[in-house]
Amino acid sequence: MKLNLKIMNINNPQFEVGIIGGGPAGSTLASYLSQANISCVVFEREIFPRPHVGESLVPATNRVFKELNFLETMEQAGFPHKYGAAWTAYNNKIYSHNFEGMPPDYAVDIRFDEQKTSESISNYTYHVDRGKFDQMLLEHAEKLGATVYQGVRVTNIQFSENENPKIFTSQDDKTRETSVRLVVDASGRRTILGSQLNLKIKDPVFNQFAIHTWFEGFDRGETEQKDYTFIHFLPISNSWIWQIPISETVTSFGVVTQKEHFSKKKQEREEFFWDCVKTQPKIYDKLKQAKQLRAFKEESDYSYGMKQFCGDGWILVGDAARFVDPIFSSGVSVALNSARFASHDIIRAFQEGNLDQGKFRRKHFEQYESILKRGTKNWYEFISLYYRLNVLFTRFVFDPRHRLDVIKLLSGDVYDQDEPSVLQEMRKIVTEIEQNPNHLLHKLLGNLTANAFNPS
Ligand SMILES: Cc1cc2nc3c(=O)[nH]c(=O)nc-3n(C[C@H](O)[C@H](O)[C@H](O)COP(=O)(O)OP(=O)(O)OC[C@H]3O[C@@H](n4cnc5c(N)ncnc54)[C@H](O)[C@@H]3O)c2cc1C
Repeated sequence: MKLNLKIMNINNPQFEVGIIGGGPAGSTLASYLSQANISCVVFEREIFPRPHVGESLVPATNRVFKELNFLETMEQAGFPHKYGAAWTAYNNKIYSHNFEGMPPDYAVDIRFDEQKTSESISNYTYHVDRGKFDQMLLEHAEKLGATVYQGVRVTNIQFSENENPKIFTSQDDKTRETSVRLVVDASGRRTILGSQLNLKIKDPVFNQFAIHTWFEGFDRGETEQKDYTFIHFLPISNSWIWQIPISETVTSFGVVTQKEHFSKKKQEREEFFWDCVKTQPKIYDKLKQAKQLRAFKEESDYSYGMKQFCGDGWILVGDAARFVDPIFSSGVSVALNSARFASHDIIRAFQEGNLDQGKFRRKHFEQYESILKRGTKNWYEFISLYYRLNVLFTRFVFDPRHRLDVIKLLSGDVYDQDEPSVLQEMRKIVTEIEQNPNHLLHKLLGNLTANAFNPS
């Protein structure tokens, strides 16, 4: 449905909204705005398709796909369906104590169809080749009416009280400026605007590095878990391997670890990857028989927050707003849902014609800011609790009183409650164990503790 917009064209910008970055956050926002007949331009520095990390989705992405009439396109693309996820320990030792509710085996898994939530509208989600997925989503935005420039890098943004914000771009050494009413930073971990405005706060807790690549012919078996995302825990603290199906025959593998374990030398880092995989002998044997399809790629130093998510004339979405450890595959879902919530406030401001002399102010994004804070805080707390005592996560997944609530979180339904009761319960138990050195589980506490429940 097209909206009847009450735009006050005091300054007549070239576009109402200028979006930096055409990844999932940028193209989703561009799609919502275009559906509502709001002119927008997307500047993307790369030429798509380009590879990108972040291949395992959660069901909370489905609502966005549905609202953007994109579900059918996802189905036609043939991405593997993801019905669930599983976590394994490196051996039985972690879980071998007699703790009430603990399973005798060492793997824990969930299926999304156990919990039908308001956000997830299907019992599965997808694993995606991000090159293909991001391109499809960006083309969708263009089809809906967004102006998209690829190979155009945003270099700077200028704000002034008397004029519209200006976005400066560079392509083939040519610099251009574009005036817009609102600047959206969707530049991912490059955080163009957050860095320019000095908003970025490095996360004191999660300081991970990752090394990853694709393999052809890894035998994922024939059970119903064949197309699950797997997280395999390693004997090194806070370190794990992801296993994500990309197609029938291609599987993505990556090792995530703390900065201190990562060598400065590239070759040693590749050896490190293989040494980590060796700690899971069954996977190692199968992976050695598979063919590596791409060079190893590294991601570093990637957790941070921002002092604020929006201000006069600007707003941050997706990774440009916040990034937390990817253990629960939350990133693309946060990108899509943050864009969705941001679009609500932007469209409302136009609809109600309540811009301040044609300008967007921070107050126009109050709802966005509070919803995003709530969602990212819940994800952060869940992840922090997991690292602090991952055996507790296992216990909660197996406990019928908590299982569905945990699956709800894992599905990405994190925006509707200030602090879901299951997180309160987990936190209570962790606090008790922290305070009691004689507790059976005290020795299993992880070392990621700094300010973990109070992110900025
Ligand atoms: C190791 C690791 C594993 C991960 N695993 C998962 C996972 O399994 N599941 C999951 O959901 N998420 C995962 N993520 C997170 C996921 O990658 C991100 O959350 C997601 O890509 C965010 O989308 P975005 O659109 O905000 O940013 P991006 O996808 O990074 O898109 C930003 C875009 O902006 C463009 N850009 C940057 N600077 C400029 C500029 N100056 N001018 C113009 N364009 C610019 C970039 O080229 C890029 O295309 C993982 C992340 C890491 C680091």
